[in-house]
Amino acid sequence: MAKRRLVLIGGGHAHMVTLANIRTIVDKGYDVTVIQPSTHHYYSGMGPGMLGGTYHPDDIRFATRKVVESQGGTFVKDKVVSIDPEKQVVRLDNSDEEVGYDVLSCNAGSSVPRDIIHADSPEIFTAKPIESLFRAQEKILSLSKERALNIAIIGGGPSSIEIAGNVQQLGQRQALHQPHISIYTGREIMVGKPAKIRKLALASLTKRGVKVLEGNYVKNIDQGIIHLEDGTSHPADIIFPAVGVRPSPIFADSGLATGPDGGLLVNRFLQCPAYPNIFGGGDCIYFEPDPLDKVGVYAVRQNPVLYHNLMAGLEGEDLEAFQPGGSYLLIYNLGNDEGVFCKWSVIFGGKLAFKIKDYIDRKFIEKFQTIEK
Ligand SMILES: Cc1cc2nc3c(=O)[nH]c(=O)nc-3n(C[C@H](O)[C@H](O)[C@H](O)COP(=O)(O)OP(=O)(O)OC[C@H]3O[C@@H](n4cnc5c(N)ncnc54)[C@H](O)[C@@H]3O)c2cc1C
Repeated sequence: MAKRRLVLIGGGHAHMVTLANIRTIVDKGYDVTVIQPSTHHYYSGMGPGMLGGTYHPDDIRFATRKVVESQGGTFVKDKVVSIDPEKQVVRLDNSDEEVGYDVLSCNAGSSVPRDIIHADSPEIFTAKPIESLFRAQEKILSLSKERALNIAIIGGGPSSIEIAGNVQQLGQRQALHQPHISIYTGREIMVGKPAKIRKLALASLTKRGVKVLEGNYVKNIDQGIIHLEDGTSHPADIIFPAVGVRPSPIFADSGLATGPDGGLLVNRFLQCPAYPNIFGGGDCIYFEPDPLDKVGVYAVRQNPVLYHNLMAGLEGEDLEAFQPGGSYLLIYNLGNDEGVFCKWSVIFGGKLAFKIKDYIDRKFIEKFQTIEK
């Protein structure tokens, strides 16, 4: 009898526990295939720190291909473009070959919408994928030897303030011509967050020379020029669009049921209601019982339930429901070894906040990097 096949789309934050247990799944007699466009997965929480030079790319990444293959799984370096739930196959970007599954798990993450980018250019680096922040660092380091760059960050949310603060750190610590950094945000910076977070973030950034231009939406970016809705235009050498994220489009493109944000609609078992052999976690899902913020915290919390349910799906056992849990800790890395800590009503800024984040993030990635060895 043919082996039952488990296929994982993406080796992101929600698949870490499943990836760590591939040997167990294979030993139980199942085939495991992981499809991902890159051989490594980067931990987003440390991405801005990598941009700022606090971490080397090797410190913040997980060797997905090595982990999969060393445990007897198959790694396919490609991007899934669609899922055919009737034929039980996924289709790839760079190959005509279809990959068949009996149980499918989707952790394809999210990406920054590119609607405002009219003409693509090498100066544009979106906040995701995290790899793009390393390419941005290389470009800044090379160009800033000659002159002070104009660097623009579009958006006023967490990834925008983290990128701005870490670009400032990069300039300062690498003794470059210090770049002129501007944040362009349609609304207030960190809108929707407690006023104290906004105040602390603004204070940390502005005292280090970051300009924060609020209340004016960017209409488009064209050939290194930022066009605002008020009709003004601003040239920039490097542009970081950090305007939030949108779930992977593969579900809508495949005609699967999605939530209003385009994420794969799943029930409390992280399972697609119309196709019970399709599961998912992380930013790419729309958790129907209680729609979730797009933060890595939820992807991490989903890990054990997703792993349990994938095994249950293969073995015909009972599924476990995912409980999102209560309030979560977020610490923003603002560069200069400063952070903003927030949990419940406890909010504070400064070096201690960054120290706590650095400790938690290093522990998290080290735990999974040990599987590589
Ligand atoms: C700059 C930045 C900093 C952040 N900091 C934090 C933080 O400190 N704390 C926090 O909780 N959250 C943070 N977030 C949010 C966090 O990144 C996301 O919530 C988290 O990455 C979601 O994890 P995921 O596994 O769903 O997706 P991802 O981490 O994006 O992983 C998805 C994986 O799927 C792969 N993939 C994508 N498309 C396909 C495809 N078509 N086929 C196959 N594979 C595919 C990708 O290569 C990737 O490996 C941050 C986000 C950004 C942008």
